[in-house]
Amino acid sequence: MWDNSIMTEKSRYGLAAETVHLLQDLIRIDTSNPPGNESAAANYIAGILYQNGIDPTVIEMAPHRGNVVARIKGNGAEAPVLLYSHTDVVPVEREHWNVDPFGGLLRDGYIYGRGALDMKGIGAMQLAVFLAIQQHLEDHPGSSLRRDIILAATADEETDTDQGIGPLIARHPDLLRAQYGLSEFGGYTMYASGKCFYPIQVAEKGTVWMHMHAAGRPGHASVPHEDNAVVHLTRAVNKLARAHLPMHISATARAYINGLADGLGGAQGAGIRALLGRLDESGLPFLERVIRDPGLAGELRAITHNTVTPTGLRAGQKTNVIPSRASAVLDCRTVPGYSGSAVIEELKRAMGSNGHAVSFDIDSESPAIEFTTNTPLYRLIRSTLKKHDPTGLPVPSMLTGATDAKHLAKLGTICYGFSPMRFKPGEHFSDMVHGHNERVSVDSLAWGVQALYDVVSEFCGLG
Ligand SMILES: [Zn+2]
Repeated sequence: MWDNSIMTEKSRYGLAAETVHLLQDLIRIDTSNPPGNESAAANYIAGILYQNGIDPTVIEMAPHRGNVVARIKGNGAEAPVLLYSHTDVVPVEREHWNVDPFGGLLRDGYIYGRGALDMKGIGAMQLAVFLAIQQHLEDHPGSSLRRDIILAATADEETDTDQGIGPLIARHPDLLRAQYGLSEFGGYTMYASGKCFYPIQVAEKGTVWMHMHAAGRPGHASVPHEDNAVVHLTRAVNKLARAHLPMHISATARAYINGLADGLGGAQGAGIRALLGRLDESGLPFLERVIRDPGLAGELRAITHNTVTPTGLRAGQKTNVIPSRASAVLDCRTVPGYSGSAVIEELKRAMGSNGHAVSFDIDSESPAIEFTTNTPLYRLIRSTLKKHDPTGLPVPSMLTGATDAKHLAKLGTICYGFSPMRFKPGEHFSDMVHGHNERVSVDSLAWGVQALYDVVSEFCGLG
């Protein structure tokens, strides 16, 4: 049902308080995926939009998998900008939570709940900004926007089983077509060696899911022999886990590394910059020694290499039968410009003779995406972050995972991860996201929603 309380109380709320209120309500709608049940969230958002004089469109790609899209019209002088979020969340292990993960509890300055960070908190900020701009236009007759602002809150990002923004774009491209898109992950504080950075996500690694197979001679397990598929496979997995794949430095990785080096300065900065000249160096120990931050070192290694992680093993039916085939499940992540087959070639080279004993099958593949930073929107994001946190150092960054940006890239949309939040030292986004007791501080949301409002209203020429 549509909630009337937000409108009647709206005059008492500022942008930040409204964001808090929206986030609490969104957390209370359980959209754990699977099964998702995002229609409940889509209808809630649609109700709020409707009550604020905006006509939303709700489209279900499958029963209960609702998506909501709305638009504030500009004068058409420039192409639209899209604020997009996903309403589904990853499931919880309730026994590890100290609070109700779907209670929307506000305690000691933090809002607790699944999705507080990924990404109902950001969706709430986007909705609050969208409503505030609509309110401004209503309050100031004669004011206008240079471009349309589109708001989309869509289903099924976390499992990406083709019931969210992917098919929505395929079937209704004009609903979402925009020059720029803003969403997760970026624009939040990242501390490194006492310095405060703001990574702005401009690239994402690609995803290649595959199987690696080993074959052997079947037989009765009572008579061991050398040509055992299980043994071949485990040797290959062991080799693969130790494989040093070559380093590839994309434009984004180069800009990120240079930005970190400039910000850190001194020996650390020089050490990080030295990475760029060491194309044959792929050892994590080197990075950890230089950076003294295992999390950052691991991330730097990931954005400069194709990676492969074994995540499953399949072999054998019966204890007394030597199987003729054994398989490993591999999660590969590719840097811009590299396909799944290119990664397989790298793996085979790195595995040496073990590489000849196995074969690879690609199950699914989605390429890396990388957007230019040479845009007025990127420059505005940078300058706005600097204005809101003069100590902060904005840097372009690459996500090691993937988001819905890969779908929007097919429409030619330039997508930036800009979901501004200001964390305290010791708070790491990556530690809290998808974790137990997921939470976001009211201060962080308040800071972020103002930064987002400033970027969107200025970029759209709200006058
Ligand atoms: Zn997310």
